Amino acid sequence: MTQLEPGQQLVGRGPVAVTMERVADDVWLMRGGAIPPLVHRIMNVYFVEAEGGVTVFDAGVRSMARHIEAVGRAMGGISRIVLGHAHPDHRGAAARIDVPVWCHEDEAGYAEAADGQPYTDFSSIPAWTKAGPARAAIWTMHHAIWDAGPVRVERTLAEGDAVAGFEVVHLPGHAPGQIALWREADRLALTSDCFYMLDAVTGEPAEPQVPLDPFNLDTEQARTSVAKLASLGAVTCCPGHLGPLTEEAVAKLEQAAGRIAATA
Ligand SMILES: [Zn+2]
Repeated sequence: MTQLEPGQQLVGRGPVAVTMERVADDVWLMRGGAIPPLVHRIMNVYFVEAEGGVTVFDAGVRSMARHIEAVGRAMGGISRIVLGHAHPDHRGAAARIDVPVWCHEDEAGYAEAADGQPYTDFSSIPAWTKAGPARAAIWTMHHAIWDAGPVRVERTLAEGDAVAGFEVVHLPGHAPGQIALWREADRLALTSDCFYMLDAVTGEPAEPQVPLDPFNLDTEQARTSVAKLASLGAVTCCPGHLGPLTEEAVAKLEQAAGRIAATA
């Protein structure tokens, strides 16, 4: 049984502390991974209580590992980690937590590789922004700070598979095996990086948007996947960074997806 109460709670101390909040029935959100000097905790990890245990969706960054383990234990034990995709800020803590890891069949090779995002085009990321060096800082976070390294995938998933009361929806483009978990009963989608709610260079909050091209395997495919997500008719979308998107904002995403479809 969970010891957590609704409302935001601080877990841990110091700069790597995380917060926990309830976002839907049986679904909790851990926010961590603040990047100084920004104050936002931009990395999201979801805890879904189901079948007597907890399914963790996305594994944030390495510094969140001990908090994910501790919260999972308090909630009855982690049954498995499901990766929305294998980028270093989504598989980041997984290698430090001794539980089975599942991901989409098209992502398993990346999850098990030393570099889970080898197609990143760092050369097209601005070298500097007003906040300071961008490209070198992002490279360092990807390769030295966020990622605890490759994982062993115990089970692969495909479109339509059932996981902890949700259904797998394949939304490729940002990553080949990027998935959402979709629960029709309350029209809730856990969306990983199907869309961004931040500026991926500065880390600042932004309008919902297709993930930035340098970080994608195939941006055109990512646009199509935003339209596919919008077509589900979600009331709440819980992304991998910041959010959640509520009903009104999901409508905006649908409009954006409509414009994307119209220009495709
Ligand atoms: Zn990503």
